[in-house]
Amino acid sequence: MTIAPDQVVSIRYTLKNDAGDVLDSSSDGEPLTYLHGHGNLIPGLERELAGKKPGDKLQVKIAPAEGYGEYDKALVQRVPRRALKGVPNVRVGMRLQAQTGRGERAVTVTQLTGDLVTLDGNHPLAGQNLNFEVEVGEVRTATAEELAHGHAHTPGDPHH
Ligand SMILES: [Zn+2]
Repeated sequence: MTIAPDQVVSIRYTLKNDAGDVLDSSSDGEPLTYLHGHGNLIPGLERELAGKKPGDKLQVKIAPAEGYGEYDKALVQRVPRRALKGVPNVRVGMRLQAQTGRGERAVTVTQLTGDLVTLDGNHPLAGQNLNFEVEVGEVRTATAEELAHGHAHTPGDPHH
């Protein structure tokens, strides 16, 4: 069976940046299982996986536009600390939900300067090329329940 929309696919992967640093990987022995064609993976990776079959190995480089987006300076804002008064111990690297020009979104505290806090609404991997090494594991037809939910179900998955 080859990978096509509405199939549940297991992959093992390693993600590196252009410098060769490992940014992410499927955890020890545990593949990532996803529902193909439902936006569960970044668009570039889904496109590369389409038509592949169990046992296939691929190396792909995905540009930001098909990954986590270009880095957008408009998503960076500086606010006075008092704007975060509900947040104890604000520190660099902290992830928060904040109101931005594009609605509520996750932001990262990237700088603390005097009374000002810099909040960055870009995805941490925005603007980076994504270099994936992927091995395709199992490919199966999704169940009706998986299609209704828009994601894969795996044994022991605690989300239900
Ligand atoms: Zn579900």
